[in-house]
Amino acid sequence: MQDNHFRGMKTEEIEQSLQTSKRLGLEKKEVQRRLKEYGYNELHEGEKQSALLLFFAQFKDFMVLVLLAATLISGLLGEYIDAIAIIAIVIVNGFLGFFQERKAEKSLDALKEMAAPQVFALRDGEWQKIPSKELVLGDVIRFSSGDRIGADLRIIEANSLEIEESALTGESVPVTKYASPNHQQVDSIGDEENMAFMGTMVTRGHGVGIVISTGMGTAMGKIADMLQTAQTTTTPLQHRLEQLGKILITTALLLTALVVIIGVFQGNDLYTMVLAGVSLAVAAIPEGLPAIVTVALSLGVQRMIKQNAIVRKLPAVETLGCASVICSDKTGTMTQNKMTVTHIWNGGQTWSVTGSGNETDGTFLRGEEEISPSNNKTLQQILTFGLLCNHAEVIEREGKVVIDGDPTEGALAIAALKAGITRRSLQDRFEIIKEFPFDSTRKMMSIIVKDQNGRQFVVTKGAPDVLVSKTESILWGDKLQYLTGEMKKTVQSAIDGLAEQALRTIAIAYKPLSGNTVILDEQDAENNLIFIGLQGMIDPPRPEVKQAVKECRDAGIKTVMITGDHAITAKAIASQLGILRGKEKVIEGKMLADMDVSDLEDIVEDVSVFARVSPEHKLKIVKALQNKGHIVAMTGDGVNDAPAIKSADIGIAMGITGTDVAKEASSLILLDDNFATIKSAIKEGRNIYENIRKFIRYLLASNVGEILVMFFAMIMALPLPLVPIQILWVNLVTDGLPAMALGLDQPEDNVMKRGPRHPKEGVFARGLGWKIISRGFLIGLSTILAFITVYKSNPDQLAYAQTVAFATLVLAQLIHVFDCRSEKSIFSRNPFGNKYLVWAVISSLLLMLVVIYYPPLQGVFHTVPIAMRDWLLIGGMASIPTFLLAGSFLIRKTK
Ligand code: ATP
Repeated sequence: MQDNHFRGMKTEEIEQSLQTSKRLGLEKKEVQRRLKEYGYNELHEGEKQSALLLFFAQFKDFMVLVLLAATLISGLLGEYIDAIAIIAIVIVNGFLGFFQERKAEKSLDALKEMAAPQVFALRDGEWQKIPSKELVLGDVIRFSSGDRIGADLRIIEANSLEIEESALTGESVPVTKYASPNHQQVDSIGDEENMAFMGTMVTRGHGVGIVISTGMGTAMGKIADMLQTAQTTTTPLQHRLEQLGKILITTALLLTALVVIIGVFQGNDLYTMVLAGVSLAVAAIPEGLPAIVTVALSLGVQRMIKQNAIVRKLPAVETLGCASVICSDKTGTMTQNKMTVTHIWNGGQTWSVTGSGNETDGTFLRGEEEISPSNNKTLQQILTFGLLCNHAEVIEREGKVVIDGDPTEGALAIAALKAGITRRSLQDRFEIIKEFPFDSTRKMMSIIVKDQNGRQFVVTKGAPDVLVSKTESILWGDKLQYLTGEMKKTVQSAIDGLAEQALRTIAIAYKPLSGNTVILDEQDAENNLIFIGLQGMIDPPRPEVKQAVKECRDAGIKTVMITGDHAITAKAIASQLGILRGKEKVIEGKMLADMDVSDLEDIVEDVSVFARVSPEHKLKIVKALQNKGHIVAMTGDGVNDAPAIKSADIGIAMGITGTDVAKEASSLILLDDNFATIKSAIKEGRNIYENIRKFIRYLLASNVGEILVMFFAMIMALPLPLVPIQILWVNLVTDGLPAMALGLDQPEDNVMKRGPRHPKEGVFARGLGWKIISRGFLIGLSTILAFITVYKSNPDQLAYAQTVAFATLVLAQLIHVFDCRSEKSIFSRNPFGNKYLVWAVISSLLLMLVVIYYPPLQGVFHTVPIAMRDWLLIGGMASIPTFLLAGSFLIRKTK
């Protein structure tokens, strides 16, 4: 254990030693200087794959190896030009693959950067959220439950602080931390009571610390090599395509062997037969497919970022398209999290408060009559305690009033300000001795305070229904009364009355402590309380959510609201948003507590709102829905939400309010915390999958066409209609661009009008296999017909007939590509609606013309210039597949 001299220091000594100030933090200039001197607060990553290695990795692919073998054979047979041309195409393709993979890698790195943890640091006297890699020695940072500690710190303030240090010690039970100097001998990191270490998690409470080491100097840095964890970067679809590729290659090789053997037996010469076999092998393999899938996924992920959704785990892109239920938090995700207190209740009377949003001016009304809060002692007390038991700061930034902290607490602070009660005025009157922070399971927060006269008492604020069960008496007006059953009912109906107006409610209570009472924990503090009153605040729904919920419903996706809020408040908002309809139910957390997963399964599909739930219940809900066969997307922000986020098929964390723990457990982060973003991500997920299906259909139909051309020719004992280099050119060059453009296609109108895809659905489901074979057959047929027509009229000019076949094949494929835009028919959408596709097809046509008419390339590609009149034949033949299919669609439609 390295000696740590900060352990025994007082705060002032640390400030002096590190030239910093706990009140003002570091100055920006000083930060720059320290960054220059000590570098960024980063752990050195393990060696990345070098560019050269990545380039060579492109040639490790089995498909490429087959191609290289074919080249070798051509070379051995004396076809040097062919061999060189194939190698050139393979190298160009290798470069393309290399650049695409580099780009995909870079965009994943950029994603990592966006999802990287941020910390609150005190700079120039102001708390600022900065990327944790910018921390330097002497930075003062604050942290709270759910945060990952960004550097090694000496703790100088701790409030019920507990940190889980398993990343360093392997011990998963959180350790309680203190701020006082520690003069004891310390044997291991686990005993460092006043230190917090980089990479560990705050599980409870909050605190402030001064950075004492960064980057590789931290305890984590010393074991950094052990932390290189592999992340899954391939999706299930990519995996399945890899398998498919292997099957295709094996089939191609068997086919090649068969063709060669049968041909030689029939008396053909070996050279011709090997050439035919190699052509078949090249025709059967969709060489460009894996690269295009990677590009389509990485471009899709980038489009999602533009819509504020960050994909942390690539497989989520596919799972998104299968989601059948979205379980979403209410506060901040469906609502704006812009709370404003509008009603205050005490002892049978309600005051309303004016002033919208964060306006700090407002009046208090009883009925129509304006009153002065300073004349009402109990109202004063409700507002004072609401601000005292509170961390939110109301600050002015760029001329606007903003809340630094929890919006619920911000609303209470602004309500107090409207009555002229400021934090500064309270600081002179009260000293906070201890705090029991808010957590979503207790649904309360308490403090112990001492007033100017030395009297101590507990102040608690929290969910009213929970608080009522902890109270013995009530301040009715300014009279203290015993809370009878009758009185409880009155309080309950006041709570319900506010909740029915969709208000979020907070109750305020307190109790005096006699001089010798010892409060050890929150159980001691939060009982026998005196109920004072309620504050009700509006939190308007986000305007776009109603439409998003409807779109999800149309897409066969159910939206479920899961909230810690009161059942009646939740019900009111869920009804406004169209989440709760007809016979759908609202269930409360306390009911869930008594159920096991199998009980919940019986009813879970009928429930649209789970209210007053604790984060632990979320896991049960996920499991029950999954057992019913659903693919579940689940949102969360706190530490306790992490297990449910992890178990869900798509775990979603909030970008703004989410803790590091929740983000790290998630596969998707919403940058704007907005429910509508989930809908957009699902739509994008469905679209990416559909686009991948589109180009798989296109590329494989083209391969089928090529195989069949060769096969037809062999059956009819005709010479080869295409030479291998021509097929390779088609597969890698003329097909590549349009396939990529299909990957960028806009979603079909109905992508959110049909149910979610079944997660086990194969790539060729929903008729895709049939489409590939039938279109491939027609492409093959039209090409061979064009070849036969020209070859029969002039059998001496094989190269000419081959060029015509080559042109017909390319053209038939380039016409067919427009067909692939829709799963229904070419008529169901404007075939030229994708401008990338139009440009890709034009460039592929030009490339084809270059190969046919540019003399230096004619030798390489075995082509000869085609006469004008034959273009009519080529055009006619190439249009046959699309005409036939369009015709059959029209006939079926009119029937
Ligand atoms: P959601 O799960 O939809 O985000 P929520 O934010 O209302 O809902 P919690 O944060 O768990 O869920 O809050 C539950 C209840 O606890 C609230 O209805 C409120 O009454 C009370 N509450 C919320 N924030 C605080 C706080 N800072 N201090 C005391 N009580 C709070």
